[in-house]
Amino acid sequence: MSKKGRVFSGARPTGRQHLGNYLGAIKNYVALQDEYECVYCIVDIHALTTVDTTRDLKQNTYEMALDWLAAGIRPEESIVFIQSHVPQVTELHILLSMVTPLGKLTDLPTFKEKVRQNPNNVNYGLVGYPVLMTADIALYKADSVPVGIDQAPHIEFARETVRSFNYRYNTKVLIEPQMKATEIPKVLGIDGQQKMSKSLDNHIELAATPEETTKRIMQMVTDPARIKRTDPGNPDVCNVFSMHKIFSPDDEVAMINVECRRAGIGCVDCKKRFAANLNKHLEPFRARRAEIGANPDSVMDVLTDGAKRARTIAAKTMEEVREAVALP
Ligand code: SF4
Repeated sequence: MSKKGRVFSGARPTGRQHLGNYLGAIKNYVALQDEYECVYCIVDIHALTTVDTTRDLKQNTYEMALDWLAAGIRPEESIVFIQSHVPQVTELHILLSMVTPLGKLTDLPTFKEKVRQNPNNVNYGLVGYPVLMTADIALYKADSVPVGIDQAPHIEFARETVRSFNYRYNTKVLIEPQMKATEIPKVLGIDGQQKMSKSLDNHIELAATPEETTKRIMQMVTDPARIKRTDPGNPDVCNVFSMHKIFSPDDEVAMINVECRRAGIGCVDCKKRFAANLNKHLEPFRARRAEIGANPDSVMDVLTDGAKRARTIAAKTMEEVREAVALP
């Protein structure tokens, strides 16, 4: 089947993935493969802009790649690789940086947010982060980038940077990427308050055992107004119910929606049901993870092969770029 175009997406190596990563990105990555040629990159260089230590970088990269493969990313079709294995990206980054006004970078809301979070580590790489991101996309001539609406300014930045480059050198060598607006659900952590995140330790890992998963689910915060078992609850404000809607059969969701409101079901029972449904949902993933993980070299082989394919595309792009810039 001919594909609609080429999609690029990158994610920082954050190690074992959690439900938020799955619902917010991986599920979509898997689905996109049916219609697009997909280039999926583990952006280890991006990670260097903010990490304190690189001690876990290799292991986190491996674990993340393993989760992607276990979730259904097909490396025989999609290109899965590590950003730093394609050095051309840094060359394109530097060339794009020459057509990027500094003020535009420092005005970006994400940059301001990063400075606010970590005022003692405002490094040069952090300022140029969106330029490196543009290089990631442009190097592989991706025409679509699947992102949530909150990422729209970054894609607009990438489009403008590509336009500036093409204009400056009177060329059409780089492609302006289109934003493929993707509905990214906001997945709350087990605290029911904040976005699911490893750093907040409110996450549920995909690779956890069924017992560990159930234990985490039993800790989930529910409707805060429901104190006693006999109090009627409100599923509309309960994160457990939001999860049921994703992972439980429709008739069970409908039953909980009614019974919770009249205290016909207790939160313990409700969570146990969610745990059972989630564990069932994750069964094939866990089996595949165990199978692939039994041979760690196979994961590295996928990444090596992906980098080789990525470098082939990158080398061709850079040949055209150097010619367009008229480098001697
Ligand atoms: S019964 Fe379920 S939906 Fe209702 S408050 Fe408890 S956990 Fe939430």
